[in-house]
Amino acid sequence: MFIVRGRFVVTVDDFNRVLRDGAVVVEDNRIVDVGYFGDLKKKHRCDTVIGDEWKIVLPGLVNCHYHSREQLSQTMFPDGHGETTWFNNYCLPYHAALTPEEEKTAFKLALYAMALNGVTTFADGGLLYPSSSLETLNEVPLRCLTSTWCWDRADIIPKTTDEAFKELTHLHHELNGGYGGRLSICATPISVTTCSENLLRQVVEWARENGVKTFIHVSSFREEVEKTLSSWGVTPVQYLSEHGLLNRDVNILHGIHLSMDDVERLVASGAGVVSCPYSSLKKGKGLSVSGVFPELLERGVRVGLGGDGAPSAQHVDMLRTLSLFTGLCRDMRMNASLPLAKDAVRAVTSTAADLLGLGNQIGSLEKGKKADIILLDMRGPDFTPLRDVFQALVFSATGAAVDTVIVDGRVVVEGRKVKGVDAEKLVKESEIAAENVAERLGLQRPM
Ligand SMILES: [Zn+2]
Repeated sequence: MFIVRGRFVVTVDDFNRVLRDGAVVVEDNRIVDVGYFGDLKKKHRCDTVIGDEWKIVLPGLVNCHYHSREQLSQTMFPDGHGETTWFNNYCLPYHAALTPEEEKTAFKLALYAMALNGVTTFADGGLLYPSSSLETLNEVPLRCLTSTWCWDRADIIPKTTDEAFKELTHLHHELNGGYGGRLSICATPISVTTCSENLLRQVVEWARENGVKTFIHVSSFREEVEKTLSSWGVTPVQYLSEHGLLNRDVNILHGIHLSMDDVERLVASGAGVVSCPYSSLKKGKGLSVSGVFPELLERGVRVGLGGDGAPSAQHVDMLRTLSLFTGLCRDMRMNASLPLAKDAVRAVTSTAADLLGLGNQIGSLEKGKKADIILLDMRGPDFTPLRDVFQALVFSATGAAVDTVIVDGRVVVEGRKVKGVDAEKLVKESEIAAENVAERLGLQRPM
């Protein structure tokens, strides 16, 4: 048993309670009490204390969309390309080129980067060699949803409908609930333009029957919407909706170019939406021009945030992502309360956990929940003075403030160091692996 304490304990519970000089008591992998430090220390007679009066204690952050296997391609592709060229000429060939060993290195590097940024749970975009890459969850023990690479309408990494579906159900059968319950298998049909209707139907129906969450890229760039309009006369959201493929277990990724009719269909279906604002901005996809996230929030659609991937966002800092997203929403509608900081925080904690199907286990600091907890160090000018912790979290904090990370009751990061990982060795291995991939792809260095 140990006690986690801080000057502020931000519970993100139903009442949004913030406890000044608060504490969380952890036994095994569960939170067994939440309250004031002085009271809990007496009540539980526990001598092991993590944290001090300079800490903000938060639920572990949740990253709702991240392509971990892209981690080696951070800054590998030339700057200045929009989504279509970027994806077809660089990203896709990279995915096709990656060996199992390289994917494993990329996955471990992604875990390392996320841990240091306070991400305790993430939804991965899909692996090609899951059984070997996932072994790294023993070294950096985060909580993870992942899946297979799922499509049946592409020339690179080709798969038949049957192969794509069977790979997914096989992985679920083999590994769901593995790694001490920290691993869940989700479904990631890539998009409506790269998956046949037959595959989408099989995947979404199977997912619903098996309590599995589905993540699908939808309206993530303008050409995608133009393509579905010219092929079928409908937007990607209409396509899913009219085929009965939107429900509460489905999350659409990006959702940048949505019409108000799309918004209403999302409201009616209960589907979630994941925004990846840094990826949209870096590739000039149009979020600040066409995005309807203020309307989605106003209409009560569950919105979570994602990092997307190393070459798209170039960091996996969910606190910076939260700041950008909140600011964008407010600025787009010239409304400084849409959303309020105290509500926005849920997009990387409780609502995000709910989108991943883990809302009853993580995402808030409450008795009975799994002990996924982070501590931010509030020493320094960005946090001084500090009266409103929610404004500080959304607009002052970055991942650099993360000091300690606890996942499933286990300390994974202590004093900004990931325990048990030789950081220098990992960085060197990653640099070498990235150079090898770039060389095989014929990519020159920009200088
Ligand atoms: Zn993606």
